[in-house]
Amino acid sequence: MKKNDIIELNIDDITFEGSGAGRLSNGMVIFVPGCAAGDRIRAKIVKVKKTYAFAIVQDFIELSPQRQADDCCVYKKCGGCCFRHISYDAELMVKQKTVGENLKKEGINVQVNEISPSPMINGYRNKAQLPIRYDADGRICIGFYAKRSHRVVGISHCRLHPGFFDEIIEYTRAFAERYNISAYDETDNTGLLRHLYIRYGEATGEVMVCLVINGKRMPHSDEFAAGLINLNKDVASVMLNVNTASTNVILGKKNILLYGRPYINDILCGNTYHISPASFYQVNRSGAEKLYNIAAGMAELNESETLLDLYCGVGTIGLSVADRVKKLIGVELVPDAVKDARHNAEINGIKNAEFFCADAAAAAEALLNRGERPNVIIVDPPRKGCSQQLLNMISELFPQKIIMVSCNSATMARDVKALSEAGYSIKQAQPVDMFPRTAHVETVVLLQKETL
Ligand code: SAH
Repeated sequence: MKKNDIIELNIDDITFEGSGAGRLSNGMVIFVPGCAAGDRIRAKIVKVKKTYAFAIVQDFIELSPQRQADDCCVYKKCGGCCFRHISYDAELMVKQKTVGENLKKEGINVQVNEISPSPMINGYRNKAQLPIRYDADGRICIGFYAKRSHRVVGISHCRLHPGFFDEIIEYTRAFAERYNISAYDETDNTGLLRHLYIRYGEATGEVMVCLVINGKRMPHSDEFAAGLINLNKDVASVMLNVNTASTNVILGKKNILLYGRPYINDILCGNTYHISPASFYQVNRSGAEKLYNIAAGMAELNESETLLDLYCGVGTIGLSVADRVKKLIGVELVPDAVKDARHNAEINGIKNAEFFCADAAAAAEALLNRGERPNVIIVDPPRKGCSQQLLNMISELFPQKIIMVSCNSATMARDVKALSEAGYSIKQAQPVDMFPRTAHVETVVLLQKETL
């Protein structure tokens, strides 16, 4: 088989990234984007490797019953969603299978619980970080990066956001155009407007709008803020964030407040949270409530116990169960998030919580040396998972239970394997969908100390 060959193919699977896959009689797997299990297609081969190849659809011979009409005009170009061409039920099956397969690859045998769906399939994201660039015609465009690229696809409507984000995006684009404010060019680190960052406290209605700029100020910034408040009465915070570094990191260190407060509030599992721009906050609020309830259910905490919440962000998981334990200790690397977490304990009247600003492994070691022996550890790392050093420290702290919350089931499985070698057995693995229509899925895992 070679490039440009035309073949007929039955698609019998779909990858975790939403690409169809079919197998030839010689065992070769052909990946075809935009396909669904059950499609029969004529495909053109575009790239051949040893055991697999990539192809594109020439035409459809039969359509899969899992298909649904995709409902976004930039779906094929944008790198955000990858499951818009199949039903949500079919997407959930893919995610369920992905979690199981990743555990299996590490040799972990556990019956994976049935995936918990997201309460909202569209409009669930409370945060957007949109690059601002010039399009091919030299006009300012605000949108998302195309798949595996840094070319920006302009959007007028994204179905993952609440509808009013679109108005803020268009307002910002028109503002930049009216005053001829330049867009960023990452090839030579020039141009002023880098990113539009919008955040929304769904339960309070409060909106934060932050423009990331490659400079110390923006012309007409007061007018930008005044126009936004006029556009949307729920805007509670308008900021500039200064980032002049030549980097992929979105936010710089300095914020300039243009209007309102330098944070917004939201309510999660009954607590109020104060959220600063640099602090992590779950993007799917109602999904996060489900996730936290599942984690709390597995932890079965009691009032004599100490809970260690590693990678705690603004403190949300731990603070949501602080009233069930004797003591809560939270650890987080980002200083603003730790400040928020301490403040959040205070505004919710929680007195048994303590927060450390440190790397998780270093903090775990310091806690071990201080004589802390948490009964339960919740660990919720970023996509790259836990460091080996942290896994060593967790096994030295040797809690009765570990609840791992992970947004990457491949690194989760790797870390679970390391912990199982350190004397823990996996009792439950529960996928929770927090990111419908995209390739991401969350998993909550319960690990328990093995009894000798
Ligand atoms: N549990 C929180 C946050 C999870 S996201 C919630 O549910 O909202 C992961 C968090 O880990 C982020 O806040 C990030 O800033 C933090 N983080 C990243 N690397 C870290 C490290 N090495 N040590 C401690 N925290 C870290």
